[in-house]
Amino acid sequence: MKTALISHPDCLAHAGTAGYQEVPQRLSVVLSALADLDLLELDAPLATREDLLRVHSEAHIDRILQTVAPGQTIDLDDDTALDCFTADAALRAAGAVCSAVDGVMNKDYTKAFCAVRPPGHHAEPEQAMGFCYFSAIAIAALRAKQVYGLARIAVVDFDVHHGNGTQTALSNIPGMYFASIHQHPHYPGTGAEVDHPNIRNIPMPAGTSAEDWRTAFSDKIIQDLQAFRPEIILVSAGFDAHKDDPLGEFNLTEQDYAWLGVSLSETAEKYSNDRLVSVLEGGYNLRALAKSARTYVEAL
Ligand SMILES: [Zn+2]
Repeated sequence: MKTALISHPDCLAHAGTAGYQEVPQRLSVVLSALADLDLLELDAPLATREDLLRVHSEAHIDRILQTVAPGQTIDLDDDTALDCFTADAALRAAGAVCSAVDGVMNKDYTKAFCAVRPPGHHAEPEQAMGFCYFSAIAIAALRAKQVYGLARIAVVDFDVHHGNGTQTALSNIPGMYFASIHQHPHYPGTGAEVDHPNIRNIPMPAGTSAEDWRTAFSDKIIQDLQAFRPEIILVSAGFDAHKDDPLGEFNLTEQDYAWLGVSLSETAEKYSNDRLVSVLEGGYNLRALAKSARTYVEAL
């Protein structure tokens, strides 16, 4: 069965905040790198308000969906601004992951990669931050629970930054497991190890080698997944732990992302009814991002 590639042109129109690396070219290079793979290409729908409300308040949703005049920007946080295209891009990003949950639950496909931006894992229920507006993966995880009645859902975040928004949204929801492996201390400041039954934070120092990273991922996250046996695995796939990324200080290469794709696929096949949904989060060196996303999706 083909892996689904879910994207939308609206995700290219959002400019990103002036002076920061979350730019439209990130998505265009990823789409180019995936172009010759035999994937089931699908358009991302707009997320519904009902889905957004699984994580965010009415006030937050209205703030993101407010009208912005063409050419104007509204700052929501230091590095997170709205332009007139942001709302649709963020709605497509969250809608992509929700539709991927529907696709794997309805057996239209078993694996999906959502090539979307803006990213989502830093968005808090009440606060846009870190280039993120809606907490796409947490919204989709809650959709899997509330619409499909899944009892065990895993969210794995391998972006170099801690998925603070995902943790906030999911930490007190029964049946959710959230794991994040990330540089620490580093932006956004959260992500210390916690003694919590369904949160596995793996903070690692700047300069962590690919070998140490893989060992931690296998010994902690893969082992947790084998024990937890989630009915679906959702992945915050950020590629900024690459050695050439300007926003992280880890040392992964595209071979490590191929390894990750294989590890997660094997785990999903064995324990999770082969249901594996990944969504693009970070990755800011265009060359490294394109190559890493390619090797990851090829491995799926
Ligand atoms: Zn990141």
